[in-house]
Formats: sequence, C-alpha cells, structure tokens
Amino acid sequence: MVADRVRAGLEAIIGVSHVFPAPDGPRLNIRPGSTEEVSRCLQFLNAQAVPVVPLGGLTGLVGGTDLFGAVVGLSTERLNRIKTLDPLRNLLTVEAGVKLEQIHAYASENGFRYGVDFGARGSCSIGGNIATNAGGNAVLRFGMTRANVAGLEVVLADGRVLSDTGGLAKNNTGYDLKQLFIGSEGTLGIITQAVLKLSRPSADTASVLLAISSLDHALGIMGALEKGCGQALLSLEIMWNRYFRTVSRAIAKGAARPISDIHPFYILAQAEGDGDRVRAQDILLEALEDVDGIVDSALADTRAGQNAFWAIRDGSEVIENSHPRVLSFDVSMRPQDYATYVGKVEERLARDVPHAVPYNFGHLSDGNVHFMIGHDGTVAEADHRIEDCVYETLSDYWPTSVSAEHGIGREKAGQLWRSRSAEEIAVMHALRVTLDPAGTLNPHVQYRAGPAASGSGVTATDA
Ligand SMILES: Cc1cc2nc3c(=O)[nH]c(=O)nc-3n(C[C@H](O)[C@H](O)[C@H](O)COP(=O)(O)OP(=O)(O)OC[C@H]3O[C@@H](n4cnc5c(N)ncnc54)[C@H](O)[C@@H]3O)c2cc1C
Repeated sequence: MVADRVRAGLEAIIGVSHVFPAPDGPRLNIRPGSTEEVSRCLQFLNAQAVPVVPLGGLTGLVGGTDLFGAVVGLSTERLNRIKTLDPLRNLLTVEAGVKLEQIHAYASENGFRYGVDFGARGSCSIGGNIATNAGGNAVLRFGMTRANVAGLEVVLADGRVLSDTGGLAKNNTGYDLKQLFIGSEGTLGIITQAVLKLSRPSADTASVLLAISSLDHALGIMGALEKGCGQALLSLEIMWNRYFRTVSRAIAKGAARPISDIHPFYILAQAEGDGDRVRAQDILLEALEDVDGIVDSALADTRAGQNAFWAIRDGSEVIENSHPRVLSFDVSMRPQDYATYVGKVEERLARDVPHAVPYNFGHLSDGNVHFMIGHDGTVAEADHRIEDCVYETLSDYWPTSVSAEHGIGREKAGQLWRSRSAEEIAVMHALRVTLDPAGTLNPHVQYRAGPAASGSGVTATDA
C-alpha cells in the first residue's frame, strides 16, 4: 500500500481531487496538471523512493503501463492543451496528454498534417507515442515518431526539467538529448510537452486495395509503387487472407465489401496527388500498369471510400475479440525475408500448437509483420510454445527485431537479447542508472541481457 504520508504529500502538491486510489490495487493514481506539478511530484516521490509509472492513453501493447505493488501511476490526462502553432516553421507544440486524433484534427483545421497515424489514434496520447517511438501506417513517408519530433520537455526522475522546445532545425551543440527519451518507455523521464513537425498535405489522396496471388508478387508490386509514386506514396500495407477476411466481414456486417475475400494476400497503398497537376489515382494506376500478380482490385479517391479500405487495415480489435486468448507479435526483418519467415512460423505453429490460429498483417515496406495468434486458452504452455514459434524462427534471419514498433515494456523483456547485444544492453542500463539512480521510473520495464528463466510473457488479450 502506498503510505498515507505519501498520499498526503501528493495531495498537498496537486490537490485532493487529483490523487485517488486505484480501484483494484494498493497503488495511487495521480493527475498532475502542469509540468511544474509533474516536477514537484517526481521530486517528492524520488526522495521517498516510491516507484512511478507514467500513464498515457493505455493503448500500449507490451505491458509498459502494468502496475504492481505500491506504485504511483502518473496519468498525463490533464496535460491536454494544444499550445502553439508556428505556421512558418510547420511546428506544433502540445502537452503530452493530447490524443493523437486531436492532433490530426487540429493540424487539418489549420491546413497541416501530422505524419504519424495508426488505429489507436482515438485513445493514445502523443506522450505515449513518443515514449514508444510509435510507427504506424505512414512510416514509409514520414518515418517513425522520432523523425516527427522537433523538441521535447521532459521531467527527470528527481524532478529536474529538461526543456528543448525551441524546435530549431539545426542545433549541433553537443548531444541531441531529446532522442534519448524517444522510445525510452517512461524509464528515463516523463515527457510533458512536445514540438511536432507538421507538413502541408495534398487535398487529393487515393487508395488502392489489391488482391494478389503470392508474396513474391507483393515484393514486385512494392518495388513498382515505390518507383512509380516516389514521394507521393504515403502507405504500403499488407494483409494475409485470414486477417482480411475476418476483419472485413466483421466490419461489413453483411453489407457489400470493397473486394472479394477469397485471395491469399491483400495490399493496401495510398498516394497523394500533386495539386491540380497530377491526380493521386493516376499516380497509383500508372505505377501499377505493368505489374504481375494482381488478381482483383478496388480504387477509392473519396474520403469515405478510402476510409472503408483503411477500416479493414486498422481493424485489429476484431481479432482481439475473436478467440478466448489472443497473443500479439510485432517483428521486423528485410521485406525480402517476409515470405519464407512467415511460412516457417505457420508451419511450426501447425506442428507445435495446432489449435492456434494466426492472423497476419503488416507494414510491407518497413518489413514489419504483426502476428495476432488466437487460441482457446485450454492448453497449458500454449503461450510459450507460440512465442517460441515466432521468435526462434527469427534467428534464421538477419537483421531482425523482436519489437519493430511496440517497444519492450514488461512483456518482451525476455526477448530483448535476440535483437540487442550484451554491450548495447549494458549501455542502456548505464544511461538509466545515470538519469534515475534510485530506479523509481517505470521499474517493471526492464532491459535484461539474457533470456528470462521461465519464459518472458507475451502480449495477450483475454477476450
Ligand atoms: C488498435 C491498436 C493499434 C495500434 N497500432 C500501432 C501501430 O500501428 N504502430 C505502433 O507503433 N503502435 C501501435 N499500437 C500501440 C500503441 O497504441 C502505441 O504504442 C501508442 O503510441 C501508445 O500510446 P499511449 O498513450 O496509449 O501510451 P501508454 O499505453 O499509456 O504507454 C505506453 C508506454 O509509454 C509510457 N508513457 C506513456 N506516456 C508517457 C509520457 N508522457 N512520458 C513518458 N513515458 C510515457 C508508459 O509508461 C508505457 O511504458 C497500437 C495499439 C492499438 C490498441
């Protein structure tokens, strides 16, 4: 139980109404309303050696916000102000608790676009996006979150505030410290503000949904789209049949679907036009003119038509609810290794965990495959056997990552050694000890150097 004196101290800093016990545990949740309040809370908690877990929109997929024991959960929900737009430098300054969807809406109302986007946009916070270096549907064009951040304000474990919110395009005065915190999953500091890079969108976009017969053809189509569209290409996604069929049927609820669901693979690509000169749909059609392997297709250039395509790609929540237990994986490799890797995982699953059902989809051009693997929860050790199928097969390839965009959190900690050397993990540890010697920030997120003694845990949804 978090001690009464700790509670009283926090109430004195941020007020009684923003400190409350969590309904299901010995911990406290707090909701500071400013950077100064975050700083004073952390300074106070650090002095008492009370662990603190930063909480954003709670959409993370690796257990980074899991709370155990007597910890304080620090929610950024009251840090929810959009602060300034600098239209000349295309920069938007926001507090950490602002939802990704709000940022999109605000940018759009002002004639801009923020490049990072993905299915959890309505719930996730920009602070959580930055803390996990989130990727998403348009990494191909805009990069990961890291490439879209021009400045950060961060509160360190002991309450000191590091503020780099000038957003200068050029500033080579020593280390670029903000980069340390991007992707650090709340282990090095709590992000309170961010300066985001925006760009000017084209009003004209089009999306094409392609049914294809083999993964080899997918690589040919990827090459043709990248060559033919160049900078106009915004996204290039892939879905395997079972994922496409399950999600598109659930979403359509019996109504017509954009394309037949009998084909092995589906590619979804989006491009933008160049003002009035070249239309987005013409860019896509021209790029695809001479490619092989397309067995069916649909094109949309209206917002509604494109949304119908993208709802399928973003509809992974349908899968989460389709089995009693669903595990989620997020691995990356070279796109040219996709086909054999996924084939091997599926073969091994069929042999070792025959009742498991894989749903595969991913960001094709980033070499990032998401597996959601459902099972009925009745077989002991099924989770770990599934995990072995996914991760042990990865060791046949190089380069690979056990977590392309979701982070390590608590649940992938036992797999980190597969993607990072002992030397790299030692440097991560040294940084952490330097910035948080008392070890109070998100202590359950551990960057461990070797395999976990008894399995590492997997990201799971109990539907
Ligand atoms: C339907 C769905 C689709 C998704 N698609 C993608 C995708 O395509 N690409 C992708 O990368 N991810 C995806 N995710 C994962 C997740 O949404 C992202 O990682 C998101 O960025 C997490 O933001 P959040 O605010 O929910 O963070 P939370 O879940 O609240 O926190 C995530 C981690 O960041 C830390 N944290 C949160 N806020 C702060 C802060 N202000 N300062 C420091 N640390 C902080 C937490 O302690 C935790 O370790 C998806 C999730 C869902 C549910």
